[in-house]
Amino acid sequence: MKIMFKYLSSLLVVLTISGCSTIYSRTTYQFETLESPFNIYYETGSEDIAKEIDGFVGDLLSEIEKAQYIKFKSPEDIKIYVFSEAERYSNYSMASIKTRGSATTNEIYISPIIRDRLGTLRSIVAHELSHIHIRQYVGTWDYINDIPEWFHEGLAVTVSGDGGAEKVSKLEASKYLSEGKHFIPRTKGGLLKHKTAHDYGLKPQMYYRQSSMFIRYLIHLDPNAFKRCYTALAEGDSFGSVWKLNYSKDLSELWVGFMSEIQA
Ligand SMILES: [Zn+2]
Repeated sequence: MKIMFKYLSSLLVVLTISGCSTIYSRTTYQFETLESPFNIYYETGSEDIAKEIDGFVGDLLSEIEKAQYIKFKSPEDIKIYVFSEAERYSNYSMASIKTRGSATTNEIYISPIIRDRLGTLRSIVAHELSHIHIRQYVGTWDYINDIPEWFHEGLAVTVSGDGGAEKVSKLEASKYLSEGKHFIPRTKGGLLKHKTAHDYGLKPQMYYRQSSMFIRYLIHLDPNAFKRCYTALAEGDSFGSVWKLNYSKDLSELWVGFMSEIQA
């Protein structure tokens, strides 16, 4: 028993050091449940935002299903949490304190910093729903390890009406692309090799905008091919395999086409 206790307390220390202390502190959170057909929870002081989300989330679910071609796999499992303090949001979600929202497979977390730009609440919730849509199908493992971040973010920005990339214009992003200051569309995800904005020396919104411009290019180039790629991913095909099959070009060739359009 004593040994067990020792083991458990050292595990606790390890988890705390590695930043997983939130697993424990989550029990200190108390949420009110909004009266709604959707699963919306809020901390005291955030009911107004919860109510606002309730007003549009039904429409958003349909919009994302239309934009991402198929129904949510389990819409009833989606839960939305609205926080009253940015720090509490960050601890609970394990997302950066600078973010307005974040998501896991079925949960969306909204930070109170959204109040600084309340006009973006709808598009931020839409952005997170876009992530949940694919993640419900492929599961957390493939979401992180098979599909690269640029695809997730580019798609989420595109279908949400620019949610997460509002501060960077297409013109500005085109300039960066022409000057060689851009991300590279990797064909694979991967926790250890996970590339983020920082890895490319870009601010997150620039990276999101560039990713969404490439996604838009792929959609415009051949809407049906893009649809086939997305549904194949949802059905479990690997990210690296879907492009050549549906566009007759691999991703690096498609990127060359995108770049020549930018520079034209
Ligand atoms: Zn995102």
